[in-house]
Amino acid sequence: MNTLLLHPDTPGDIERAGALLAAGQVVGIPTETVYGLGANALDGAAVKQIFAAKGRPADNPLIVHIADFSQIFDLVAAVPDAARRLADAYWPGPLTIILPKAACIPDEVSAGLETVGIRLPSHPVARAVIRAAGVPIAAPSANTSGRPSTTTAAHVMEDMNGKIAAVLDGGACQVGVESTVVSLAGEQPRLLRPGGISLEQLEAVLGPVAVDRAISQPIGDDVRVSAPGMKYRHYAPHAPVTAVCGDPAKGAAYIASHLTAQAGVICFDEFAGQFDGHIVRTIGRADDPAAQAHAIFDALRAFDDTDVTAIFAQCPDDSGIGLAVANRLKKAAGFHVIEV
Ligand code: AMP
Ligand code: MG
Repeated sequence: MNTLLLHPDTPGDIERAGALLAAGQVVGIPTETVYGLGANALDGAAVKQIFAAKGRPADNPLIVHIADFSQIFDLVAAVPDAARRLADAYWPGPLTIILPKAACIPDEVSAGLETVGIRLPSHPVARAVIRAAGVPIAAPSANTSGRPSTTTAAHVMEDMNGKIAAVLDGGACQVGVESTVVSLAGEQPRLLRPGGISLEQLEAVLGPVAVDRAISQPIGDDVRVSAPGMKYRHYAPHAPVTAVCGDPAKGAAYIASHLTAQAGVICFDEFAGQFDGHIVRTIGRADDPAAQAHAIFDALRAFDDTDVTAIFAQCPDDSGIGLAVANRLKKAAGFHVIEV
């Protein structure tokens, strides 16, 4: 398959992407979080092609993206008051709300669950494409399963060239990590994945939110998880990663004293000078988790073009969007975490 590279500023390209989606094809689309691999969410056969292109396990559900709030009513069994309040506060934006699904949601989207995740993205190109398609769009992150997520059209082409109909190049994603996933399908609101909307922001609207332990701990094959995606290896570059958590200056000193000759480093800006002779990628200052979120997947991917045999990565603390950055790094490390 010849993968078209489309540009939102080229007249007709957004409509072209929308027409491909309406015709059951898969298209890479920019969002404010990461690039998504989109298909018509109401067409099980179209959605199946997403799983094939990514090599994604069939039991890992997809998020359904809408362009206008009113679309939610056809996709879920009911919209509870808590969902309305969250939507008022954080939609459009990097938040996915899990609710009991309506009958129109194909099993391919919900991976056999009775629930569905809905998100209203803020990226104007994402919303324009969804409107042009005329249907809700199911989309996971646009990476090969297991690899770091994609935050530029070039990343998407790296993983998907020849496998999907088109990629729409909307530039670099602003947030850089995936949406926050919160379930309102159980008795208590539950954070299933930290992301662009922080736990603190959720609790400001919902009151106490339970935090799934899969966010910060490895989950064995025998454990039943709320979101099947939680149990898979994720976000990983080829070289093994060690996540170094705790005081940033101590962490930098730990890394400097443990670096082997062929090891690379992901570090906060102010420590970049401490690893001379090694390949170093900076992700922002230690006190700027939003900058770290923006840079983290590009940094993880960049090492796959090098011959490093190990990667040491500085990990932020859990406040604000730091919880999401730390979660992606710990998962990339297979939970090989050093606390300094
Ligand atoms: P991705 O965009 O590749 O990160 O994949 C979407 C993620 O959203 C999945 O891995 C799940 O963690 C989560 N998700 C989507 N739908 C559901 C659902 N119905 N219940 C729980 N989690 C979900
Ligand atoms: Mg993903």
